[in-house]
Amino acid sequence: MSESHITTKGQSAANDAVLAVNCPTCQKSVSWTSASLFRPFCCERCKLIDLGEWASESHRIAGSDDDNDLMSEDAQY
Ligand SMILES: [Zn+2]
Repeated sequence: MSESHITTKGQSAANDAVLAVNCPTCQKSVSWTSASLFRPFCCERCKLIDLGEWASESHRIAGSDDDNDLMSEDAQY
């Protein structure tokens, strides 16, 4: 009266897999979990870049308008 031994194979490891996507901006791998607030982006910065916010924020960095005062400083002589 011996039962046939039960083979427990076929354990699916797929349960552990975390869906991941690549950040559209920097191509970094981002886990698709609730912890990734900015998914599919890796961070807020990448999200802003994609939205075009980054461009409008940084276009001021280039070029300095303060050079206009060169003449007035020399006039002190
Ligand atoms: Zn990114």
